[in-house]
Amino acid sequence: MERRGYDPLKTSEVLRNIVCIENRRRYYRFRGGRWYGGIATADCVGCNLRCVFCWGWQVRDKPRSVGRFYTPQEVSRNLLQIAERKGYTQVRISGNEPTLSWGHLLEVIGQIEAANLSFILETNGILIGSDKSYARDLSKFSNLHVRVSIKGTSPQEFHVLTGAVPEAFYFQLKALENLLDYNVTAHPAVMVSFTEPGNVERLKSMLADIDKTLVAEFEEEYVFLYPHVVKQLTKAGIRPRKAYAPDNIPEELV
Ligand code: SF4
Repeated sequence: MERRGYDPLKTSEVLRNIVCIENRRRYYRFRGGRWYGGIATADCVGCNLRCVFCWGWQVRDKPRSVGRFYTPQEVSRNLLQIAERKGYTQVRISGNEPTLSWGHLLEVIGQIEAANLSFILETNGILIGSDKSYARDLSKFSNLHVRVSIKGTSPQEFHVLTGAVPEAFYFQLKALENLLDYNVTAHPAVMVSFTEPGNVERLKSMLADIDKTLVAEFEEEYVFLYPHVVKQLTKAGIRPRKAYAPDNIPEELV
C-alpha cells in the first residue's frame, strides 16, 4: 500500500513530550538580526513538519539533545535584553515551531506585551488551523502579528516538500481564516521556490475566498541554499526553480 505521509498533529503530540516540560520549552539560541528591520529572536527546538528545505533541520532532528529548557520569564528577559541593547521594538520566536508549547508561548507574548514591544509569531499554522481555540487565545494580545509560513501552493506540493499527508496543507489556510475570524492580524508567507508557474495564482484565488487582504499581503518566500540545506535537497532529489545563494542574500534578511 502507498505511504501517504505522517500526520503532523500526531507528530505534535509526540514532540510536545520531548521539547516541553510544564511551562518550559527547549531553545538553542538567542540573537539579534535584521529581519523585519531589526528583531530580537529566540530560536526554539522542535517542529511538527519535516520540510526538505528547512534551514533548521539539524536542530529539528535532535530535539532531545540540542539546547536546554527555558521558562517563559527567561525567554522574555533574554529577548528584552537583546531588544534594549540593539534598539529594537520587535521580538519573535523562530528556528523551529513556536506553537508546540502553547501555554509557554502565551506567557512569553504576554510578557513582551507588558514591556510594550511587538511580537511576531512565525508559524507553519498547522496547530492554529486544527483548532480555533488557538486563534481565540491569541486574540487577547494587542502587540501581535502572525506570519503563517505556507509550505508550497497545493496539497500535493506540500506533501512533496514536507512528507506530511497532503490534506494537512489545508490547516495552513484554515489558520489564516481562524486568525482573521478572531481579528488577529496575520499574513501568508508562501514557499514558492519549488512551485510550477500558475500554482501561485491558484493559491491566491483560494486565499481571496478567505479574505482579499491575504492576497494583498501575500509574501513570497524563497529557499536559502546553505550547504546543509543543499545536502538535504540533493538527498531528496528536489531542485528549486528559484533560490537565494548564501552570498547573495538581500541585506535586510541577514
Ligand atoms: S515548518 Fe519551518 S522549522 Fe518546521 S520543518 Fe518546515 S521549515 Fe523547518
